[in-house]
Amino acid sequence: MDVEGNVRRIVVPTPLPLGGTNLYLVKEKPITLIDTGPDTEDTKADLKFGLAKIGLKLKDVERIVLTHGHVDHCGLAHEFVEISNPEILAHEKDRDIIEDFGSAVEKRFEDCGELFGSTGAPPETFQVIREFLDFLGSLTHPCEITRTLKDKDKIEFESGAFGVLYTPGHSSGSISLQSGDTLFSGDALLVENSPCSVFGGADKKSVGLDDFLDSMEKLSKLGARKAYPGHGEPFENVKEKIKGMQSAYEAKKETILDYLSKEELTAFELMNRVFGIISIEQVLMGLGEILGHLEILAKEKAVETKEKEGLIYYKV
Ligand SMILES: [Zn+2]
Ligand SMILES: [Zn+2]
Repeated sequence: MDVEGNVRRIVVPTPLPLGGTNLYLVKEKPITLIDTGPDTEDTKADLKFGLAKIGLKLKDVERIVLTHGHVDHCGLAHEFVEISNPEILAHEKDRDIIEDFGSAVEKRFEDCGELFGSTGAPPETFQVIREFLDFLGSLTHPCEITRTLKDKDKIEFESGAFGVLYTPGHSSGSISLQSGDTLFSGDALLVENSPCSVFGGADKKSVGLDDFLDSMEKLSKLGARKAYPGHGEPFENVKEKIKGMQSAYEAKKETILDYLSKEELTAFELMNRVFGIISIEQVLMGLGEILGHLEILAKEKAVETKEKEGLIYYKV
């Protein structure tokens, strides 16, 4: 398929620190929208405008493919059910957050309660994280998946098909799509941000930074020429960009090891050392990234852990 000729990027706003989300309209039968953006009036207006520019309306969308279940990508999907009743495709492992965000987040929070409790973060931080998750919940509505996807599945078009690549780590059910030398990478490749995952492990339990890194490596080996990410500008030199992200990960790892070679720290103390003062919305991401590193370093036996009064301390 001629991706350059048939795909249009539509950027919609989000009320989140990442800024706008990229949606991709594939103007090929069945008319397919990759991601929908969050459920806000502004998003809907910009999506309508973006579609109108290519001669389409919301009701023309016959299929929606969700790269993952984060609300900035899937929140508006439910709106289409009434409008055009499209097929809605996503990976099985993000089905729960797409179909019922509130319960899925609650369950994850319970599963991770012990880990969160051991980080040394003050109760106010948990309160802030909870409020932030409630806010995220307000940007989506339950939406039923009509077809679940897995690695190596094909998404057929009248001419050609997209291949599905399972790329967990950013979320448990993150996928990327490949068409020839072109890649739709969702949030599996965010070149402007350090590799980060917030409980996106393929096992649906762990933080999953290791899965995130494995997914990047998998994408790096495809020989893709151009990537269309979930945020930011499409980019070429995919392999080099991934190399840059891998180097950023290694540098962060060294920084962490350096701090932990000097003193023993909780995850929260380490986050404050590494990031300094960060905004409230970034605490969940910051803590997630630190816990992801610590999960890997503990597995590699590069750090030792010690439990003291319910808190876990890390030391090289
Ligand atoms: Zn995401
Ligand atoms: Zn995103």
